[in-house]
Amino acid sequence: MEKKRREHIQPGAGQRPEEAGALGNKSGPRAVPEPGIRPGIRVSPKAGPAPDKRMRPKERTDRAKKKAVEAYKGLLQLLFPLRCPVCDDIVRPSGEKICLECLGRLQLLTPPWCMKCGKKLAQEGEFCGDCQRREHLFTRGRALYSYESAAPSIYRFKYGGRREYAEAFGEQMAEYLGDFIRTVRPEALIPIPLHRKRLRARGYNQARLLARALGRRTGVPVCADFLVRVKNTLPLKYENPKERQNNLKKAFNIARNDVKLKRVVVIDDIYTTGSTMDEAAETLRGAGVEEVYFIALASGTGV
Ligand SMILES: [Zn+2]
Ligand SMILES: [Zn+2]
Repeated sequence: MEKKRREHIQPGAGQRPEEAGALGNKSGPRAVPEPGIRPGIRVSPKAGPAPDKRMRPKERTDRAKKKAVEAYKGLLQLLFPLRCPVCDDIVRPSGEKICLECLGRLQLLTPPWCMKCGKKLAQEGEFCGDCQRREHLFTRGRALYSYESAAPSIYRFKYGGRREYAEAFGEQMAEYLGDFIRTVRPEALIPIPLHRKRLRARGYNQARLLARALGRRTGVPVCADFLVRVKNTLPLKYENPKERQNNLKKAFNIARNDVKLKRVVVIDDIYTTGSTMDEAAETLRGAGVEEVYFIALASGTGV
């Protein structure tokens, strides 16, 4: 894990960790042929017909469907090539979600991080200054990138209509925070909701897109209509921390009383003071959720 991480943040490393792994396997024991077997020659005379003919009709249609889906995906990529969240140009090489050249510019958070909120710590320690000073209502959280490195990408993702970035971000979240999710074993991913007026104006909720992309890759269901925002708060940039705290009071509500959840991971784009997360956690706890974890796409340095 640590090795992967280091490789990843080296600028211009030019190789994805999984590629490094795949190359590594070639020299592994599996690549060595068994003694006495020459490649390409069928050993047993009793071996049946080619696998294609042995397949049952259902297997054959499944395989055909899979091929069609792959072809469709390839076509979509040609028609609507994905943009890279870093340079905002068409991803190179195609098939990737972030240009290999740009990959190192999104800085993954590395230890030491705060054991409560996951913010990067300037030096070795258990909690950041903020978490030492006040008690949070969530259980624990992690973030993927340093805010400084990801801010322009996140801005375009939220306000520039670049909803396609969710795929790249979701893939990276699953890769680097997958262990965290497996440890937590959440029953659902819950995106921080937008107020319906804001949702109508923007056309999408970026946290919901992130949750979907992450859910697809980790198999954790997304419960997007559980938590709703009932107060239309001003964007962060217009408020000072005190105003924000007051504005967030009773900002959320539970919209589903037919669903009972005990352990959830809340998904948001940026973790700053933790006031949004605390307010969401308070509402969720009020509805019987016992453990509220969170994952944010980025967070600032803990002081
Ligand atoms: Zn790029
Ligand atoms: Zn903290």
